[in-house]
Amino acid sequence: MYALNAHELYRFFHIGDDETAALRGISLHLSPGEIVAVTGPSGSGKSTLLACMTGLDEPDGGYVEAAGVRLSRRSEAERARLRAANFGILLQSGNLFGHLTVEQNIRFQMLLAGRPDETRIRLLLESVSLAHRAQAFPTGLSGGETARAGLAVALAADPLVLVADEPTAEVDRDTESRLVEHFKARREAGLTTLLATHSKALAQTADRIIRLKDGRIDNE
Ligand code: ADP
Ligand code: MG
Repeated sequence: MYALNAHELYRFFHIGDDETAALRGISLHLSPGEIVAVTGPSGSGKSTLLACMTGLDEPDGGYVEAAGVRLSRRSEAERARLRAANFGILLQSGNLFGHLTVEQNIRFQMLLAGRPDETRIRLLLESVSLAHRAQAFPTGLSGGETARAGLAVALAADPLVLVADEPTAEVDRDTESRLVEHFKARREAGLTTLLATHSKALAQTADRIIRLKDGRIDNE
């Protein structure tokens, strides 16, 4: 069974009379333990694809399955439940709740997935070098710390699929290499990682690179 399966995804956006075909029939299958990198120029559909594959957005055509369970064309509540159970999501920003500390953000994500684990919170904080910042609020964090805290939140529930949209676009080298370490550890554990990236270092970690151009896969 695929960890994540996208079948013939289409997504259109309309502004007035203008139509943008952001996804034009994209199929993508991710196996357990795979790291797949999506690359392509700005506007090629990477973020739209990732959003549709996690159920944050609904495709206009096609469907997505996570671990064999249909995600598309389900109610918002059902999608949210499946998302919390199966996915860790790391966006370029907005990964932390501002009124919660770093530690509380991680714990909250675990609770959403139904997997509270105090020991894992400590281990995660150490693994992203934020043990000393556990009680800090997001506004008190540096850029690199914010990115690492977002990673810890995305990894909180040890998700079957980690989806990261340009996770290293604005981070220092040290943070980038930490991300890479986590992605490799997930591969060893048979967990799947899907990322959109411009970073060569990050794309090189991937088992497969999918190039997007104008909402289509360019290399298959
Ligand atoms: P990428 O992440 O590769 O830069 P996006 O998926 O963000 O590409 O965008 C793909 C295309 O869809 C672009 O032309 C973008 O302008 C358009 N688009 C994305 N989201 C929206 C939206 N919410 N409303 C209108 N157009 C959108
Ligand atoms: Mg994008």
